[in-house]
Amino acid sequence: SNSIVNNLERQIKTNITPKRLALTCRLSHSWALQTEGKMASNFYRILSSKRNVGILSLVGAGSITGAVLLRREHVTASAHVRRTYPASAEYPDLRQHNNCMASHLTPAIYAKLCDKSTPNGYTLDQAIQTGVDNPGHPFIKTVGMVAGDEETYEVFADLLDPIIRERHNGYDCRTMTHPTDLDSSKLHSGRFDERYVLSSRVRTGRSIRGLSLPPACTRAERREVERVTVDALAGLSGDLAGKYYSLTQMTDAEQQQLIDDHFLFDKPVSPLLTCAGMARDWPDARGIWHNNEKTFLVWINEEDHTRVISMEKGGNMKRVFDRFCRGLKEVERMIQEKGWEFMWNEKLGYILTCPSNLGTGLRAGVHVNLPRLSKDPRFSKILDNLRLQKRGTGGVDTAAVGSTFDISNLDRLGQSEVQLVQTVVDGVNYLIECEKKLEKGQDIKVPAPPKGN
Ligand code: ADP
Ligand code: MG
Repeated sequence: SNSIVNNLERQIKTNITPKRLALTCRLSHSWALQTEGKMASNFYRILSSKRNVGILSLVGAGSITGAVLLRREHVTASAHVRRTYPASAEYPDLRQHNNCMASHLTPAIYAKLCDKSTPNGYTLDQAIQTGVDNPGHPFIKTVGMVAGDEETYEVFADLLDPIIRERHNGYDCRTMTHPTDLDSSKLHSGRFDERYVLSSRVRTGRSIRGLSLPPACTRAERREVERVTVDALAGLSGDLAGKYYSLTQMTDAEQQQLIDDHFLFDKPVSPLLTCAGMARDWPDARGIWHNNEKTFLVWINEEDHTRVISMEKGGNMKRVFDRFCRGLKEVERMIQEKGWEFMWNEKLGYILTCPSNLGTGLRAGVHVNLPRLSKDPRFSKILDNLRLQKRGTGGVDTAAVGSTFDISNLDRLGQSEVQLVQTVVDGVNYLIECEKKLEKGQDIKVPAPPKGN
């Protein structure tokens, strides 16, 4: 797979000894056997680079190249989880649970997958731990499962595919492909009434191929994510030019100020994060990069390798999305210039830690004040039918204060960035219309659910 190609490439770059490289190649060999043929060109890229030919020939690279040319649709994992008790004795007690994982993890699927692991050694039990430890969330229905690496989605597909189908409005990863569209000029009516909308924000996540994801990464991998990203971001210019602020070098007061101003992720208090192993070694290699105006920001090593954010006060979602698209394309270009790439495939789009963020990884949202509508019993149904989610304004783990909510798109996969932001624009405009009608004592309507629901 590409991650192995990248691993090899990186290790070659960092002067790995021939002995260690031989080991890597051996380990990668069985994996490479199961890899799609189109990856072969990447291997050729490495092999043909002059510097590397000598080392690779030492370890019999020819067989790897040959192996990669074999075409196989899916990867399969080796079974090397050592088990003393039968799977039935290890099956978690999910009777109190209401997350997506608990709805789909039958004893049969558990038994089928519990001895498998990804090539990095990530297991089913690790992937589901956060969902086992957190039966429910007070405000949203969570997924209850995370990925430790890119291959998690392939190796545990028997469980993840139905979870993805439930979470992403019927998306079928076996038959569907995910579109990407970062042409923000296609967005229409992207300006909200600022008597209601206080701030606008669009974020996504991106993962660096070849490095384990936050639930499973080692300290060195996490520091590598930070190094690679900060290095790449140094190439941004004009209004996007900015600076990196490491959490380890920040005072507690500075950190708290950034959190209170909604620029920075919360301290690792969320059990969703801690139970998934994402808060290990905190605050090592965590930080925030932002431009001078704090309108373009990149979080490093929170729930994802990176989170890319465009935000500003007021209701100009159009301008926020313009900057998001422009900045994100620039970031990707810089990452690629440094010889890295993002985890991506055509079925699942961009690969992120939480299955809820697959596809676009995009969450476009506003802080909006809806004093009347939010007290109306139809509020939740209206949000559901508009495919919108509500959160408190302090983030996913906070309750709403007063009548101001964070309203954002519910779906991330199967629709493009442009489509999802348009859903938010149209949906939030609908909510504001309802609020205005209620102000005038008029009745409101619950919109029809989208087709397919
Ligand atoms: P994410 O999905 O980006 O991880 P969270 O719910 O964890 O979002 O919130 C992260 C931070 O972003 C919080 O401080 C939250 O207040 C802030 N935030 C989210 N949406 C907006 C918005 N529309 N305007 C201002 N701040 C926002
Ligand atoms: Mg978050």
